Parts: sequence; C-alpha cells; structure tokens
Amino acid sequence: MEIFERIERVAAIGDRLGYSPAEDRAHELAAGWMAEAGLEISRDEVGNLFGRRGSARVWTGSHLDSVPNGGRFDGVLGVLAGIEAAARLPDAELAVAAFRAEENGPMGSRRLVSLPEAFVEVHIEQGPVLERAGEPLGVVTAIAGQARGAVVFEGRADHAGTTPMDAREDALVEAARFVLRVRESTREGGVATVGAVEVEPNAMNVVPARVAVAVDARAPTAEELEALIARIGFEPTWRLAPVAMSGAPFVALSAVLPDAPRLVSGAGHDAMVLAAAGVPTAMLFVRSLNGGASHSPEELTSNDDIALAVDALTRTLERLAA
Ligand SMILES: [Zn+2]
Repeated sequence: MEIFERIERVAAIGDRLGYSPAEDRAHELAAGWMAEAGLEISRDEVGNLFGRRGSARVWTGSHLDSVPNGGRFDGVLGVLAGIEAAARLPDAELAVAAFRAEENGPMGSRRLVSLPEAFVEVHIEQGPVLERAGEPLGVVTAIAGQARGAVVFEGRADHAGTTPMDAREDALVEAARFVLRVRESTREGGVATVGAVEVEPNAMNVVPARVAVAVDARAPTAEELEALIARIGFEPTWRLAPVAMSGAPFVALSAVLPDAPRLVSGAGHDAMVLAAAGVPTAMLFVRSLNGGASHSPEELTSNDDIALAVDALTRTLERLAA
C-alpha cells in the first residue's frame, strides 16, 4: 500500500515544527497525494490544508507537524489514512484535512472558519492500552478533560545540621506526602501527575522553606474530573473540558468495529477541538508498539495494524458520506 511509503517520505523531512518550512514541505507532499486521490486542494487563511470532493460535509484528517525528535506516525497516520480512504471511495463527497501546528496548541484546528457536519480522526494511541490488550484498533469514547494548578507548601528554612528533626517545618516533606496523595486519589478513576517541583532555597544543607508542586489531573467526564480535583484537594488555575465522541461518526465507527475495545484518550487532539466546537466527532486509535512510546523516535505502529485502520476508516467514511 502506498501509505507505508508515504509515511517514510514525510518522516524523511525530519522535525516538522508548526509553521516551519519543514511543516510546509509535508503539506506540499500531502497536497500532491490529495490531488492524486481526486481531491480538490484548498488552504484556509491559517494554512490548514484541505482535499475536498463535492459537498464535503464529512471530514477526516489530523496533523503533519511534529514535536522535536518525534515519531513518524503521530498525526501523519491520520492524514495519510484519510487520503488512502478517499482514493478508495472515488464517489464519496468528503474532505481530508491536514491541520496546522497541532503540537503547539493546537493552533490550526482552533481557527477553522467553517466546520463540517461530521469528523473522524485516525491517530496512534500514544499509550500502551491496546498493546497490552492484544488489540490492533480501539474506538475512543471521550477525550479526557484536564485541570492544572500549583499547590504551595510553606515551612521554615533552618540549618540542616543543627536543627533537631522534631523542630523542623520541612516544606518538602509535606509536599512529598501530597505527591503520594495525588497518586492515591486516582484509585477511583482518572490520572494525575506531579511533574514539576520548585524548592526554595533548594540548597543541600538548608531545610526547605517553600515548595510549589504542579498538578495535572485528567478524567473522561466533567463529573469525574471535579471529583478527582476534590480528592486531590487543589485549586485548578487552568481547565480544559472533556468532550464525548458522539453522533453519526461515533455510531458509524462503532458499527464498523463492534468488538474493538472502547477507550478514553488522555491526550488532546484536533478531534477534541472539533468536538468542543460542536462537531459530531469520532476517533479511531491504532495500536502503539514499544510500550506505547510516542513523541520519540521509538514510536512504532505495524503495517498490519495500519492496514486494518485504513479499512475501518474507509468503511466508516463510506457510511457517513452515503
Ligand atoms: Zn498527534
């Protein structure tokens, strides 16, 4: 299948940061392949690329930009699978989209001026769930909501040699207890991470006086996210609402893959932006090998799984465009 060779052609460009000349080159390659598939090329004012046929009320696609030193499948697979499916459905009125700069925002999909009636995105899972389950494909039911904030612990700076252990107010010890509580709080659902810690004065021989920890909490529904925030006990300063996959695209994809595992996406995607804008949206996850490695050159998805994903996408679009 041409898609395997095309994945290598895009990967050969190297890092493709959003709005860089390298991302432009990937868009030019994709535009050529869209034209070969019988699609009419257009670009909007923020540089999103579309290959359209007919009324094109149904869209599929993803992004072609990458993180520095990223993998060859993240985003690219969704665009190229869409082009392949469009070539197999020469009469279907649909569009394949390559959104700009997903990794820095996303930026392109947030600035769409017109929206489709349905959107389907194929994407690698970027996690180990399908590999662990021994399943090539999964149907995404929701994209997790996110809440972020900082928690500050105040103690007192003291001499590390002369202050008795029972006379200390060590802010880092309190913060360490909190980090464990964050992990415990996910037993009833969701995921939560303390990924950044600032210690003051951050000196080996001084009892820590002040510690700020950054919390990232995610859950599939608004209710579950609020419950998780309450269990952790922090005040988010930034939130992103969860979105459910829904409507005709979700029904069509579910009918094509009745036995595939259902899973929640813990990462945001262009599909999240379109769904949040009110577009009925579905998302198909393809198994990531190497323990789900992603945003790294270790990212791997097999040709067999890609072939299954293209088949499933084609059948889903066929139903939707009918
Ligand atoms: Zn991606």
